Amino acid sequence: MIPFLDLQKINCQYREELTKCMSEVLDSGWYLLGDQLKRFEKNLSEYIGVKHVIGVANGLDALRLILKAYLELNYLKEGDEVIAPANTYIASILAISDNRLKPILVEPDIHTYNIDIENIEEKITKKTRAIMIVHLYGRVVFSNQLKNLAKKYDLKIIEDNAQAIGAEWKNKKTGNLGDAAGFSFYPGKNLGALGNAGAVATNDDDLASCIRDLANYGSNKKYINIYKGLNSRLDELQAAILDVKLKYLDCENQKRQQIARYYIDHIQNDQIILPDDPKNEKEHVWHLFVIRLKSRQRLQAYLSTQGVKTLIHYPVPPHRQKAYKEYNQQSFPITERIHQQVLSLPISGAHSHKQVEKITYLLNSYHQ
Ligand SMILES: *Cc1c(COP(=O)(O)O)cnc(C)c1O
Repeated sequence: MIPFLDLQKINCQYREELTKCMSEVLDSGWYLLGDQLKRFEKNLSEYIGVKHVIGVANGLDALRLILKAYLELNYLKEGDEVIAPANTYIASILAISDNRLKPILVEPDIHTYNIDIENIEEKITKKTRAIMIVHLYGRVVFSNQLKNLAKKYDLKIIEDNAQAIGAEWKNKKTGNLGDAAGFSFYPGKNLGALGNAGAVATNDDDLASCIRDLANYGSNKKYINIYKGLNSRLDELQAAILDVKLKYLDCENQKRQQIARYYIDHIQNDQIILPDDPKNEKEHVWHLFVIRLKSRQRLQAYLSTQGVKTLIHYPVPPHRQKAYKEYNQQSFPITERIHQQVLSLPISGAHSHKQVEKITYLLNSYHQ
């Protein structure tokens, strides 16, 4: 059997270091807001090249807190519009609507599966205050055109960097391209914790300090509450684990890039559309390797009978979910086509060359 993602194998590569750091936390007797968190925040901020990193409970909270802080700082007000890609994972949209802001959905580019920057300007109104970009599947979405657009209309750029940690655009890491960024360390992400974890990155001092307080009950001093905050902390145990795994992130991402290279160079099947390959390989860290085809169900079933597990990211777009009834009548044909046709192949640092060869062979000999 070739699993889609073998987290046991990925994490047990670092068994010694991980068990050591976990017992250190156990022995320290200090489990929240301590030295482990400080160290991880510092190391991640240096890695990203950004002034502030704030560890939080998960990726959704990271995005929610960014928007909540902009509300507290009076940059945003209830009902303001935030532009986001229609085909993102629902968390990006939930972060917006949870803050009583209005998600304005924009169609993606059918080649990169990222928000089509050409389609943004026509969606901007007097109420638009921010653009949430999502580096979907690990592929960077950014351009000078986007920067100029944000400048022209005075919009904040918020990066949902849950899937692209380690990727770069013109020698700058994702998470340092816009005004603020949310990271997820969900176990299956390129940098995964052994549980929930997330972070915010920003160069904005006021925003950073506001988010730090908001994530800690709106308090900057014990029992003194300046905001109606929440409890969203990255605990010491996860921070220690992430700090160990951060050292190996580039290596893990390189293994993903090598597998993607092999798939792209060797998969040859007229029915299969391969993912777009950026000219600069640093612009993709291949959180997912997503192919597209008309009858994916049949291919998925075939691969399954051959012992290869695949997944679909994602089967239903946010605007077609019951949770977003008010969007159900809107039409996003490119988004809908993507959701009907995509299939994710196994890719990770724990997949062997042999496994990748076998998957490629199966795809090349598949005819419906
Ligand atoms: C995983 C993910 C999130 C949310 O992260 P959690 O840590 O699960 O809350 C947000 N956006 C995208 C694009 C994601 O893939």
